[in-house]
Amino acid sequence: MNVAVIGSGTMGNGIAHVFAQHGFAVSLIDISQQALDKGLATIGKNLDRQVTKGSLSADDKAATLGRLTTYTSIAEGVRNAGLVVEAATENVELKLNIFRELDKHAPADAVLASNTSSISITKIAAVTQRPAQVIGMHFMNPVPVMKLVEIIRGYATSDEVTQRIMDLSRQLEKTPTEVNDYPGFVANRILMPMINEAIYSLYEGVAGVEEIDTVMKLGMAHPMGPLQLADFIGLDVCLAILRVLHDGFGNPKYAPCPLLVNMVTAGRLGVKSGEGFYSWGHGTKDLVVADRFKK
Ligand code: NAD
Repeated sequence: MNVAVIGSGTMGNGIAHVFAQHGFAVSLIDISQQALDKGLATIGKNLDRQVTKGSLSADDKAATLGRLTTYTSIAEGVRNAGLVVEAATENVELKLNIFRELDKHAPADAVLASNTSSISITKIAAVTQRPAQVIGMHFMNPVPVMKLVEIIRGYATSDEVTQRIMDLSRQLEKTPTEVNDYPGFVANRILMPMINEAIYSLYEGVAGVEEIDTVMKLGMAHPMGPLQLADFIGLDVCLAILRVLHDGFGNPKYAPCPLLVNMVTAGRLGVKSGEGFYSWGHGTKDLVVADRFKK
C-alpha cells in the first residue's frame, strides 16, 4: 500500500520513517522544499543511529530511503495513496483546508488520518465526503522510538476503518490504543493539566524549576519532569492544546497559567527557541535552569 504523509516537520519525518522502514512506499509532502530536505536528512541520521546500534542493517537503511519520494503538491503526492497521514502544523483552518484537498485528490477508498494533538477528528471529518474513513492516528514524539499510537474514532468513523488502522499500527510494531473524540483525547487531556499545574506551582512560588521536576521524576517515577517535558513539546504547543481543552469543556480548570501565556508571547518556547524553563543553547544533554528561574 502507498502511504502519503502530509508535513515533513518533527512528526511527519518520523511517521514517514516508520512506514518506509516497515516496507510501505511513502510519499512525503510539504509546502516547503526546505522542510522536505530537512526531513529526509533527519530520517537519514536516525536510520544511521539504528545501523550503529545494530537494530537495522545497512541494506535495510538503503531500502528504507529508497521507498521515500517527496512532493510539494498534495494533488500529486496522494494520487495513489491507500492511507494519508496528515501531520501538518496544528492549526484548525489549515487542517480543514488540507482535508478538503485530500478528499478531492486521494482515491475514494483511501483512509484519511490526522496526527493532530487536539483538534476534533469529527470536525475534520465533516469537511470531507467520507467521514466514516477519517480517523485520528496520534503518534508520539520521537516517532521511531515511542510505542504508543492513540487511535481516535471520530463520531462517524466506521468499525471497519478503526480495525484496519489498529492492525496497521501493529504492523509498524506500535501499540495502538482506541479512544473517542473528545477534547485532548486521552493523552493530552491528562498530560496538559499536569504540565499546567506544574507551571502554576512555579508561578505561585511553591517551588523552583528543578524542585518541581525532581519531585515528579523521583516521586512518581516519571522519566522526565513536567517542565522539562513542556520544553521538549514546545510551550506554544502546550498553550494551544490547553486552549482547546478550555474552549471544548468550558471549564476554568483548564485555563492556561498566565506564566505560560507570557513565556509564549515572549518567544520562550522551550528547546526549539533555545530557552523555556531550562536553557537549551548548549544542546539537550545537560539540564541548565534558565537564568530567569535561577534562585
Ligand atoms: P512542525 O511545525 O515541526 O511541522 C509541520 C510541517 O507542516 C512543516 O514542515 C510545514 O511546512 C508543514 N505544512 C504546513 N502547512 C502545510 C500544508 N498546507 N501542506 C503540507 N505541509 C504543510 O509540526 P509538528 O510538531 O511535526 O506537528 C505536526 C502535527 O503533529 C500537529 O498536528 C501536532 O499537533 C502533532 N503532534 C505533534 C507532536 C510533537 O511532539 N511535536 C506530538 C504529537 C502530535
